[in-house]
Amino acid sequence: MSYNATQLIHSIPVDPLTGAISVPIYQTSTFVQEAPGVNKGYDYARTNNPTRAALEEIIARLEHGSTGIAFGSGLAAIDAVVKLLESGDEILAVDDIYGGAFRLFTHIYQKFGVTVNYTDTTNIENVFNAVTPKTKLIWIETPTNPTLKISDIEAIAKIAKAHHCLLCVDNTFASPALQNPILLGADIVIHSATKYLGGHSDLIAGLVITKEKETGEKIKFIQNASGAILSPFDSWLVIRGIETLSLRVKQHCSNAQVIAEYLSKHPSVEKVFYPGLKSHPNHEVAAKQSNGFGGIVSFTLKNDTEEAATGFVTSTKLFRLAESLGGVKSLLCHPAQMTHKSIPAERRKTAGVADSLIRLSVGLEEAKDLIQDLEQAFESSELKHKQPLEKEPFNN
Ligand SMILES: *Cc1c(COP(=O)(O)O)cnc(C)c1O
Repeated sequence: MSYNATQLIHSIPVDPLTGAISVPIYQTSTFVQEAPGVNKGYDYARTNNPTRAALEEIIARLEHGSTGIAFGSGLAAIDAVVKLLESGDEILAVDDIYGGAFRLFTHIYQKFGVTVNYTDTTNIENVFNAVTPKTKLIWIETPTNPTLKISDIEAIAKIAKAHHCLLCVDNTFASPALQNPILLGADIVIHSATKYLGGHSDLIAGLVITKEKETGEKIKFIQNASGAILSPFDSWLVIRGIETLSLRVKQHCSNAQVIAEYLSKHPSVEKVFYPGLKSHPNHEVAAKQSNGFGGIVSFTLKNDTEEAATGFVTSTKLFRLAESLGGVKSLLCHPAQMTHKSIPAERRKTAGVADSLIRLSVGLEEAKDLIQDLEQAFESSELKHKQPLEKEPFNN
């Protein structure tokens, strides 16, 4: 289903002009023309740039689409897709959508007359019942953030097709190494290449891939017209990241599986969220539509309080406390106080983001070292918790 490592590595072209094995960085704003309109295929670097074009071609192939389009961030990629819609159109979106997409839909597009309905897309009946004649775009993420919910891409694609609307899958958490939504019937795929595609926590980038050329042309038009392009250097960094994608993702998956199993048996842990566990409610769907279960593991504590979670996330040494994910170094975050802070507590909890929920982005270190780090964090954070409160100084 997905590209294997050989195909992936050799999808990156050798420079036809010089033979350079690394794609050259064309750091230029404009291209000299022989006569007005007579050029070598490039005229102005917002419209097109050879380094960006190389990335766009590689990602189109990796996702089995016709067209790839690169943007300055994942959110700029999402923004470009929403711009396909018109006032009066509706989006049907997964209920625990990425917070930035929620903010974009609600605070930018609502005032232009695009409305959004949210539903739990893990249950296909909900999707079936929630589409209306006005629905023009179905928007899903699978796995979702941070509770790793899984939706059935193929089944939702059938509903989208029957209702003549587009299905867009945010494939950031899986990456093209694990899951290719276009092969499962999706029309559009987006990535925050900031995460696994870049893979080194050193850039912000976004990608759109379309199944049809016609949709691709529309997104290319929006890319040029709105201007949120990816720079030549950052395009090069994403290409460099893609070179090691399959190797990295394999290791992220195997480390995450071991850690998810370790956490499931830990006496301080209440619940573990990982699609690779048999106990995950949609484990079978995940196994059917992807080649692996990814590098993100979330869990809640028996002591379901923000204080207990704070104690834990400030006690790890290898897992560094930071937002974002998908890099070489392991990270962890506390969504209730970080990524999901702007979501009202009640809405957050019904979406499954408990007060003590902790999200791990499992990196490429040795699994045994990561487990040792988690173990010492459980021990030291529980000790911190048991320490008696300091008495007020008696000053009389
Ligand atoms: C990070 C992320 C985004 C946004 O991408 P940026 O590159 O930060 O703009 C969108 N979707 C998902 C699932 C993400 O994790």
